[in-house]
Amino acid sequence: MLTIDKYLRPATLEEAYEAAQKKNSVILGGMLWLRLGNRRIGTAIDLTGLVPDGIEDTGDTYRIGAYATLRTLETHEGLNILTDHAVRDSLCSIVGVQFRNLATAGGSIFGRFGFSDVVTTFLALGASVELYKTGTVTLEEFCTMGRVNDILTHIVLPKSPVTASYLAHRNAATDFPVLNTCAALCDGILTVTVGSRPLRAVPYRFPTDSGISAENIAETVAGQTVFASNTRASEDYRRHLCRVLVRRAVTDVLEKSAAKAAREVK
Ligand SMILES: Cc1cc2nc3c(=O)[nH]c(=O)nc-3n(C[C@H](O)[C@H](O)[C@H](O)COP(=O)(O)OP(=O)(O)OC[C@H]3O[C@@H](n4cnc5c(N)ncnc54)[C@H](O)[C@@H]3O)c2cc1C
Repeated sequence: MLTIDKYLRPATLEEAYEAAQKKNSVILGGMLWLRLGNRRIGTAIDLTGLVPDGIEDTGDTYRIGAYATLRTLETHEGLNILTDHAVRDSLCSIVGVQFRNLATAGGSIFGRFGFSDVVTTFLALGASVELYKTGTVTLEEFCTMGRVNDILTHIVLPKSPVTASYLAHRNAATDFPVLNTCAALCDGILTVTVGSRPLRAVPYRFPTDSGISAENIAETVAGQTVFASNTRASEDYRRHLCRVLVRRAVTDVLEKSAAKAAREVK
């Protein structure tokens, strides 16, 4: 059971940050993951009013507030047109609509969960995170950092034209993914991420002018990625899935990219 001694709704981010430095303090997101814990929280810090729950179009980025829900991301037209609906595709199997109406983008990214569909997708799309004290860091860098005692205020997605595809395998609908991948082609670089290995997602990059095929990319990624076994699947099965899903996602991206180029010529 989760026990909270003190609930705090700070007036400023500075006050929230200072409170978060104390032992046993916790920043609240949608509390869907936190509530499953069996622990005693000293101070639970609610960021309502301090971090946005919407998505701002700044012209060259989408700046997503930490308290934007997964459902807000999933149904955001601009975000989905930009990403060929990869954002929607990666979120729509997470538990259910009611759940996604509560789970926050900030909590999902800050948790850096190994099973995350959200991290796998935003990593491939070249997102950055804004941390109150640390400043802006790429999501790739954030994923390699140790324990971070900061407040995530925004997730920033560049609006550079991208062709993307998201795929995952689940043993049962709405369960955690057994493996997930996102391929995103932007400015001649194809980024492929592999997550739910069940370790944290990792990115790979391939210049498209190298002429490397989807099959070769899938072989390379499956060969270089470290997988592990857990109750959902074995290491070997994950490697097999990786080969199949990466090949399909990359093929999809290359086909969509060729179709876009053909439309532009007309
Ligand atoms: C049953 C279940 C099934 C799930 N299945 C999937 C799945 O299939 N795929 C998937 O991708 N995800 C899945 N998730 C994860 C889920 O989508 C959310 O990512 C998760 O619940 C965290 O979001 P939250 O808003 O509830 O954060 P919380 O649970 O409130 O917080 C999570 C962590 O982030 C910290 N935190 C929250 N917000 C901030 C902030 N702004 N700054 C700093 N720290 C912060 C909290 O202190 C806590 O440590 C699942 C979760 C559950 C409970």
